[in-house]
Amino acid sequence: NRNIWESDPELFEIMKKEKLRQKSGLEMIASENFTTLPVLQCLSSCLHNKYSEGLPGQRYYGGNEFIDQVEVLAQKRSLETYKVSPEEWGVNVQPYSGSPANFATLTAVVEPHGRIMGLDLPDGGHLTHGFFTATKKISATSIFFESMPYKVDPETGLIDYDQLLKTARLFKPKLIIAGVSCYSRALDYKRFRAICDEVGAYLMSDMAHISGLVAAGVTPNPFDYSDIVTTTTHKSLRGPRAGVIFFRKGVRSVNAKGEKIMYDLESKINQAVFPGLQGGPHNNTIAAIATAMKQANTPEFVTYAKQVVANARRLSDGLQSKGYKVVTGGTDVHMLLVDLRSAGITGAKGEYILEEISIACNKNTVPGDKSALNPSGIRLGTPALTTRGLEEADIDAVVGFIDRGLRLAKKINDKSGPKLVDFKKLLHEEFQGEVDSL
Ligand code: PLP
Repeated sequence: NRNIWESDPELFEIMKKEKLRQKSGLEMIASENFTTLPVLQCLSSCLHNKYSEGLPGQRYYGGNEFIDQVEVLAQKRSLETYKVSPEEWGVNVQPYSGSPANFATLTAVVEPHGRIMGLDLPDGGHLTHGFFTATKKISATSIFFESMPYKVDPETGLIDYDQLLKTARLFKPKLIIAGVSCYSRALDYKRFRAICDEVGAYLMSDMAHISGLVAAGVTPNPFDYSDIVTTTTHKSLRGPRAGVIFFRKGVRSVNAKGEKIMYDLESKINQAVFPGLQGGPHNNTIAAIATAMKQANTPEFVTYAKQVVANARRLSDGLQSKGYKVVTGGTDVHMLLVDLRSAGITGAKGEYILEEISIACNKNTVPGDKSALNPSGIRLGTPALTTRGLEEADIDAVVGFIDRGLRLAKKINDKSGPKLVDFKKLLHEEFQGEVDSL
């Protein structure tokens, strides 16, 4: 029972370096956050040791009296945080993360090779929404299901709902996914619902990115219109790395004869998670979900979520005032996509330069990009910076760093500009200590 720094100093040294990296840089990856001490305490607790296949009260292993209590608490708090009633909604808190949550949901409600539609990955969707390329089925959700992507309008960057409806009428999917990994505008769940109703599809909303904003009520609520809502808990929600599936219970529709058609999602989804795809739940993580949901159901969290959005707006305004193109012209949420084509640099170069000055972000395709391999944009998010206490005035300073970094990036010219190693020196001289001091 020695401490990690005694039992494994080699590993501990690496962990220390990562901690320093997280502390001394600006974390602007839209899907990341700094979770809280209680969440970390749950994750490293003795709950980790226990096997508990099954659901509370119906386990395949003994000794689960307290584990049952933890899971029931996590379920209860998850429903409370999203203000949905246990009569109308059920929840499964066992998925190991967002991707398994999505895959489990699809296997539960769509037969093998059944049809699904999701936003295309280069347009801002997630891999698990059925992604494939011209030459390859990339995601298991495109291998085991027939998927047809919908797109954003290349001019406006906004989801093309009219085209989605036309395609859905022809394709007749069993399920449509409303969810994004890189899209800065609120989703029109009412419109998604109408499209699903017209073609007889389930509406699954994947609120992974925005689940903290939904909990705080600062973005439209997918529960009002969806049959199923999936989420991760580690992004804007600021909890542990995990996944959660919410599903409707009760009456789904009334047919022409006036008969009630009931939802049958509960057992299908629970069984898809276990024993369908997973084994023993990670009880330490489930405890961390419970405490994260409690934290997200507070006035302090609402203040946090509002600040996340205010910071993203300030970032978007600041970058636009310096001449950068922000896709869709702004943001309603915690992230934005900067189109670097007019700035004369690629997304990869932008990401690289910003990393050199201790700003972490990721290159991303922008609408109209010819190649997903060489994307033209960078995605920036504010959840992590906001957790660290940054407010609008600090964001103005961040805009300044990004702008100076990207301007310098233009000077990296493969043929005639400074060599990369000289360039690095230039960057480090220009920015020494400034980012760290924020
Ligand atoms: N769904 C969306 C919309 C996401 O953005 C992500 C991750 O970025 C996931 C699902 C998958 O989550 P995980 O990485 O936890 O598997």
